[in-house]
Amino acid sequence: MSAFTSKVLVVGMDGLRFDRLLALDAPVLAELRSTGAYGTSKLPYGEAGTPRTESPGEVVPKAPEPGDGGRVIRSRTDSGPGWSSIATGVWPDKHGVVDNGFASPQFQKFPDFLTRAKQARPALTTSAFFSWASLAEYGAFGPAIDHRFVLDGYTVGWATADKQVAQAAERHLAEEDPDAVFVYLGDTDEVAHALGPHCPEYADALRTQDAYLGRLLDAVRARPSYRQERWTVLVTTDHGHVDEGGHGGTSDEERTVFVIAARLGDDLGGGRLAGPRLVDVAPTALAALGVPMDRSWDLDGAPLEL
Ligand SMILES: [Zn+2]
Repeated sequence: MSAFTSKVLVVGMDGLRFDRLLALDAPVLAELRSTGAYGTSKLPYGEAGTPRTESPGEVVPKAPEPGDGGRVIRSRTDSGPGWSSIATGVWPDKHGVVDNGFASPQFQKFPDFLTRAKQARPALTTSAFFSWASLAEYGAFGPAIDHRFVLDGYTVGWATADKQVAQAAERHLAEEDPDAVFVYLGDTDEVAHALGPHCPEYADALRTQDAYLGRLLDAVRARPSYRQERWTVLVTTDHGHVDEGGHGGTSDEERTVFVIAARLGDDLGGGRLAGPRLVDVAPTALAALGVPMDRSWDLDGAPLEL
């Protein structure tokens, strides 16, 4: 028996380009990189020649290609496929989300990591907070999660929705006893769509989200039981953006994603993770909770070595 209670916080920031993250002032993320470990990889999908727009109902039909012998993943580099891969630990050809239309999701077969954690260990408390309502509506983060705080950034406004999401998550971490928590922030993507990732407004959005992350970590560290807890923190994104703003296609700027992993109170030395993929996030979170991998889950990802 471990003397510590293992807990996990996964924070997702939509459309966050790693090169911009490194160039801009984001002190909390910089601290997590220097005390944790991090790396980048390229999404194994992207639709060439498709519009670099993102709308909630957009559907790109998945063309059947019976001649394809190998595994070809047909998907736009959009939020639906990205967050579904982060949630489930499998790629779009398995979870079925290839754009933001969520036409045929397979979340019964490939549930999110919070749902898997709860199935494996019913005593765990799971929580998810997000400003993109589709993640709840289509079940990327499913109804079996104990606490779901859902706002609609399209109607509330993304900056306002993120603020309320962050406040709700902060209060939850301070006052409740969750074991596994997911928090989604979306304004970086909204700003990049409108103005591209090289403008001062994108820097402001990143700095704001960085400050929210700092408040979440402060809330964790201030928990009365913190000294008996072992928190693994993962930060990631779902896709990048082209310089002029937008995604969906196959450029390196759209396909490059990152994972930052840290253990609070434990210096991992700022090392490099070897090509961490979005599908590794869910297995890493489950492993941190002590939930063993099950081959029957057919996951594409594996726990990152921290
Ligand atoms: Zn996105």
